[in-house]
Parts: sequence; structure tokens; C-alpha cells
Amino acid sequence: MSRIFEITEKVASYAPHADVDLINRAYVFAANAHAGQTRRSGDPYIVHPLAVADILASLKMDEATIVTGLLHDTVEDTHVSLADVERHFGSDIAQLVDGVTKIGKIHFHSSEHKQAENFRKMLMATARDVRVLIIKLADRLHNMRTLGFMSERKREAISTETIQIYAPLAHRLGIHWIKQEMEDLAFANLEREAYQELLGKLQDRLEGLNQIRERLEVIIQEALQRQGLNARVQGRMKHLYSIYAKMQRKHVDFDEIFDLVAFRVIVDDITTCYQTLGIIHSLYRPVPGRFKDYIALPKPNGYQSLHTAVIGPENFRIEVQIRTEAMHAYAEDGVAAHWIYKDLDASPRERESFKWLRQLTELLQETDNPGEFLENVRLDLFVQEVYVFSPDGDIFALPRGARPLDFAYAVHTDIGHHCIGVRINGEMADFSTRLHNGDQIEIMTSPDQTPSRQWLQYVKTPRARQAIRQWFRRQEKETSVRIGRQILKDALGRTEVGDRVLRRLGCESLEELQQRIGRGDIPIQNLLDAADLDHTKPLKLRGVTRAMMQAAECCHPIPGDPVLGVFISGKGMIIHHRKCPQVTESKSGNWLEVNWKPQPGQLFKTGIEVRSQNERGMLARVTNSIASARSSIEDLKLRQKGGSMTELLFLIEVEDRKHLADVIRSIRGVDGVVRVQRRNQVGLSGQAESRSLAETLRDFFAGRKHGRDGKGAKHE
Ligand code: MN
Repeated sequence: MSRIFEITEKVASYAPHADVDLINRAYVFAANAHAGQTRRSGDPYIVHPLAVADILASLKMDEATIVTGLLHDTVEDTHVSLADVERHFGSDIAQLVDGVTKIGKIHFHSSEHKQAENFRKMLMATARDVRVLIIKLADRLHNMRTLGFMSERKREAISTETIQIYAPLAHRLGIHWIKQEMEDLAFANLEREAYQELLGKLQDRLEGLNQIRERLEVIIQEALQRQGLNARVQGRMKHLYSIYAKMQRKHVDFDEIFDLVAFRVIVDDITTCYQTLGIIHSLYRPVPGRFKDYIALPKPNGYQSLHTAVIGPENFRIEVQIRTEAMHAYAEDGVAAHWIYKDLDASPRERESFKWLRQLTELLQETDNPGEFLENVRLDLFVQEVYVFSPDGDIFALPRGARPLDFAYAVHTDIGHHCIGVRINGEMADFSTRLHNGDQIEIMTSPDQTPSRQWLQYVKTPRARQAIRQWFRRQEKETSVRIGRQILKDALGRTEVGDRVLRRLGCESLEELQQRIGRGDIPIQNLLDAADLDHTKPLKLRGVTRAMMQAAECCHPIPGDPVLGVFISGKGMIIHHRKCPQVTESKSGNWLEVNWKPQPGQLFKTGIEVRSQNERGMLARVTNSIASARSSIEDLKLRQKGGSMTELLFLIEVEDRKHLADVIRSIRGVDGVVRVQRRNQVGLSGQAESRSLAETLRDFFAGRKHGRDGKGAKHE
């Protein structure tokens, strides 16, 4: 059982200037807060925070971390508030306590491997400060050490979480000994029989291994001394779980595992590492292919050492790791080893340089340039993802900036397609809300809901974007097939055709033919020709959806006009006025009689001609009268006639013929207006006086008709 003076002595040994008083005060504060509480073991609760602080002192952490270790359960488990902690210990420590409390509330309950990886990332993102993670690891390590007092079910659940989440997290942070101890404790609880069996076998071998270790230590040390070099030789058994995992992975028995013991040779500097390697290889035969230079090429988590394996005394195969003291400290304690205690003899520059952070950025930010992040100490800045929960507690990793629809599509494409609303942390939110770490997202769906093109503005993930686009493509295809089937029925009197017709039109299947006819890729005339039929009258077409129809820009039909439709490949059905020259001068059988009923509120362009007195302010009066009839002017052309007359040509937007009549009536009410009439097409006018106007109109519409430029009609 740890005592507070042992902890403060430990801290003082590596940090002579540490504020021992502060640590003592934290102890008294925590002991008071937890007074009367006990652990499952029957021990007073304060035993646990003391043990956590002790583990942190073994990691040589700074005083703020030690203090937080003592206080870490006060806010969650006692009457103490975060404000109390801040008042007594300052905001730095309050933030650390808050961080530990927050990640303590996140529980992992899924056995999926990918979920575990996401969960670890989320812990890193939520923790913000790496010290929070280290405190959490110390907390979990002590809870694992005292697991024996828990129920069987709890032991299993906590052990599983430890082996899936916390041991890999310790590994990622390079704190090797915590990883190993956690794994062995979890192993002992999860596979009790296998653990005991392995433990027994190892103990049988222990004596022999120890003898070898002692001999080897002497041999290596003497060999190095002859070269005038110093070395510390440590022999150690592989930890149980790693042996067990290897037996499982390679499907081998214990007797087939050779490298049960690893030797570490710890020397003064890097040059000596390589010299030592040479000496060991001259003493014992190296195992081919086992030499690895992690000094020149460190592991991703920053680990450095030379590794080799040799056939040692009595043909015993041994692994050897050669490293400097600094490499050894890092191999054991990882990030924590780089926790430069802010001692007085460290220069400000050194303190600012955050060496450990460079390592950490490499851990977390394996793809990007870590240099950019060195100014930042907040962990969440290194993580490019947000981690959010489903109501069932599943974790989803989404890119930063993701919004509710990204989440909906990540759950399932159908959830996305039918999404009508979202609750974030229990409150209604809209689709433009950005998601934050730890948000719980609940998607509401309705079978009647379908995607809208607007949704594309609110998605960040390619997955959601593609799903929405795909939905529209599929809709278009289904519509085309339906229209194609209708055209077949109207043109041929049946919805199917023989292979000969398919072959003639270059189609593989009836569905392909229907789709291509429906899209207008195959003109109806070609279909009639292929079927050896002739039609002179337009076909009657029913069942074409209005979404597929567009008004032609040459004759500007509006709803209520007599119209015919024609399919243009890639554009859908184009609606023309029956008197449009394209209709009257065409001899093709591609024209279709359609029932054109656009969506309510949809607007259509049409042309009007206004003849008026040439008076100051006339144009303003006319445009006002158009606006007062709820229409808008899309384009305008003025022509000075001889004498006192002016011709105004407007392209306006209206809903239908009735709306157009309202507009015309409104303009007629303007003083000085002589005549108002619709002017869409040269062919629509039979009056001689309009010849020059006809030319004007031709110019007016030329830009649209030939599609050079949508705004090409804007002259003068
Ligand atoms: Mn705790």
C-alpha cells in the first residue's frame, strides 16, 4: 500500500524543486472527500488514488499529474465540484481532473476490432492533454491489480476492455511496462487455466534461464571491459501474454517457443551499441535474419534499439537488445519518459521544445507533417476525425466538419435516404450542424422521405455524396425506363419488341431499349423505322413526369399553350409551342402529344412586345406595372421607332397563360401604352409592320436558341 510520504520522496528524487506541499495538500483534500468510502476490497477508498499517484511517480511525471492522480475520482465520486478543485489547485489541475472525469464516462461495449481502434482514437481526441491519458492508464492499471474483488462478469468485462483499449493505448504511447502488466493481468482473468499452465511451465525453466543470464552477463561485461567499455546486462523473461499470443498466432506449443528470455545490454552511447553488437556476434553465432537496426530506423512509436538473436550457451537461443540509457528509459516509459520535468536547470528553450510532443505527433499523425503541429499542445488538434455515438453506443469516425447526413449515410445508405431529422445529444438539430467529439446522434427516418439535391451542400464524406448522387441516377433511370415503356405502348401498341427490332436499334435488352427511348437517345422515328411502321400524326404520350420536361428556349411555351414534346438525348423532354417552326417545319415522327402540367409555382419565360409613346419615364412605368403583376423581367430590348413611338421587348417570367394575361392587362393600364401583345416567335406574327420587330426578336432569342451563351440576348 502506497503512503503519501513515499510518493513525495519519489517525486523529490527526480524533481528536487517539486512543490511537495501541494502534493500533500491534494492528499488531505482527497482523503477528506473520500472519507467513509471504501473499495470492494474493504480498504479505505483513498488507497486507490494513492496507488495511482504512486504509479505516476514511477513514471516521473510532473507535480500537476501527481496531484491529479490523487484527485482524479473526487469530482465523479464525491460532493467535490470542479470549481472546488480549481479554487484549491488552479485551472491546470482542474482541467486535468475534468479530462480524466470525462473519459471515465466513456464506456466501450463492442467486440469489433475496428470499433476498438476508433475508441482509442476517440480517447486521444477527448483527452486533449496527453497527461490525462497517462493518468487514465495508471488508474486502469491499479483497478486491474485489484480486480480480484469484483464479480466474475465484471472481471471479464473490464479485462476485455483493458486488452482491447488500454493495453494498445499504452503501447501507442510507448509505455511498455504498463502494456505488459495490463496484458498479463487481463490474461490471468480471461484465460485462467491457460495462464496457470503457462506460469507453471515458465517457473520450471526459470532456474536454468537465470543461470544462463548470470553467465552471459559476466561474459559480455568482461568482453566489453577488455575494450574499455561499460555495460549493464539485464536478462528478463518475456511476459506471459506475449508468449501465449505467439503460441496462438503461430499454432505452436510452449516447447517450440525459443525466445522466452531477452537480454538487454545497456551502454553509454550509440557507438558503443554497435561495438557491443560486434562483440556479441563474435562470442555467439547470430541467427540469420534476426538483426534489426531500430537505432537508425526507429519504430513508429519512437522505440530505438539494436535487436539480434544468437545461439548462446548450451545451444540456447537468446534475443539480445542493445541500447543506450536514454533509449532504455523511452522503451520502458515512452511518452512519459519525455515528460521533461520543468526543473530549474532546464533552459526555457528546452522546455519550450517539447521533445515528447514531437514523438507524440509522430504517433498520432503518421501521415502528415508533424512539424506544423509543434506549437500546439492540445491532443485533439492532431486528430483529423470526430468520434460520435449511435444511440446503441457504436462509435463512428467521421472526418472533421462532418454533419448529421454524413452520420446517417455512415450508418446505412437507407437511413441516409430516408432521413427526415436528427437529434444531437437529445436535442433537435438541423442538417447543417457540425458534429463534435462524443456527440450522440439519433437519426429520425420516414419511409416517404427521399434525398434532395440540397443535401449535397450538407455532406462532407464521399460516401454520403456518392449515395445521394447514385440515388438520383437510379431515379432518372427508372423514370426513363417508365417513359420508354409508355412510348413503346403508344407507338407500337405493345410494351415489348422482338429481337430483330432490338438488334436493329443496337440494344442488348428490352430494358436498355426502354431506357434509351425514354432518355431520347433513340428518336421515336428510329423506333418506328426499326419496327417497319409509319406514323404521321404525333403520338399521344401519357405518364411522363413533369420533372423530365423543360420548356424550349426558341418558342418559350407556357402552361396552357398548345404544345408538343420531343426527347433530346441527355436533356429529357423539351416542350415546344405547336406553332414553333421547329414543329411546323419538321417531318419527323418524334413529336409526342403530352399533358404538360408543371409544378405549382414554377415560372416560365415568355416574350411580350409593348408599343408606347416616346415619353420620359415610360420604361420605368412599364417595368413597375410588370412587377406589380408579380412578374419579373429577365431581359429587355428597346427600339426607337420613327416619330414618337417606342417598342419595348421584354422577356418575363410567368406561371401560365392566366398569369400572362394579368401582366398584359397591367401594362395596358399604363398611360401612353398603345399596344401590348405576346411575341415569342417570328412565325407567330402575321403583321407586316412587325417585320423589323421580327428581326429584333430573332436577334433577341438568337443567343438562347443556338445556346452560345445563356445571357447572349442582353443587348444595348
Ligand atoms: Mn480511479
